[in-house]
Amino acid sequence: MHKPMFSLEVFPPKRDAPVGTIYDTLDGLEGLKPDFISVTYGHGTHSDRTATARIAATIRKEYRIPTVAHLTALYSDKERIDQALDLFESAGVSAVLALRGDHLEGETPVGEFEHASDLVRYIRQRKPELKVFGACYPEGHIEAASLDADIDNLKVKVDAGASHLISQLFYSNDDFYRFLDKARAAGIDVPIEAGIMPVTSAKSVRSMAQRNKSAIPAPVEAMLERWGDDRESLRVAGINYASEQITDLVAHGVDGVHLYTMNRPATTRRIWRNVEPLFTVE
Ligand code: FAD
Repeated sequence: MHKPMFSLEVFPPKRDAPVGTIYDTLDGLEGLKPDFISVTYGHGTHSDRTATARIAATIRKEYRIPTVAHLTALYSDKERIDQALDLFESAGVSAVLALRGDHLEGETPVGEFEHASDLVRYIRQRKPELKVFGACYPEGHIEAASLDADIDNLKVKVDAGASHLISQLFYSNDDFYRFLDKARAAGIDVPIEAGIMPVTSAKSVRSMAQRNKSAIPAPVEAMLERWGDDRESLRVAGINYASEQITDLVAHGVDGVHLYTMNRPATTRRIWRNVEPLFTVE
């Protein structure tokens, strides 16, 4: 029996947030010992593009946890990508999660990297010693004509050099299993981690579902209807739901689970307390 991987994701605090916010998040996650923590990358004009590397360096050096740095392609030219890669290398990241990024209203893509696979190929060529990860979508990416078409494109990304995939969040494990079967049948044989985001607020679940054009399954809809105005009860229900999702995923032998912490260490810790033995027993 293989031991599933367990990883976490954090994001750089907003520019106007106090500098110490990220330390509070990381202190709150201390002791969890994930296989790695990934740090997201903001690609808007107003984003601080050096924050990902700085936080990754802190996680590695001060918390002694391997890190994965996200990097987006659409609004960067090669020079900017090179700068980011140099910063990531100095920060000692274990891998780069190469992403296309979302189209931003009113901003024109630079045009040097159209798809994430273009960035994957570029990084593999530029820094062969860096591992490159990619994103995948159990319900299909919103712009894809179908799940099958999306998986064909995912195969291109893996063939370009993505050696590990992390999935978008999903609330119905059956969606993930269906995706996994199709991906394996398409010859995608790299590890695929299942992305889990605990339900903590009705507003964020509904806006995320709308943005990704994904369905909210009946058990989650029931939770939102009953506790949509009662944040603490919804949080408890969300912790239980995520813990059950993870238990079922591990029972099905998934390669790993990637938990979106949303920089809320207390919620992350409660989930980890529920599922930790499933990850440590050989
Ligand atoms: P791609 O793999 O390029 O896919 C995007 C679309 O293009 C899909 O519909 C795909 O089917 C299609 N496509 C791909 N290749 C081809 C091809 N060769 N020909 C035709 N069509 C093709 N965003 C951020 O801004 N910062 C982050 O840190 C961040 N982290 C993320 C982490 C994870 C785990 C996930 C799942 C998403 C993350 N995102 C992040 C969001 C991501 O940038 C968006 O979902 C974006 O819309 C797609 O990025 P991608 O890398 O999956 O793109």
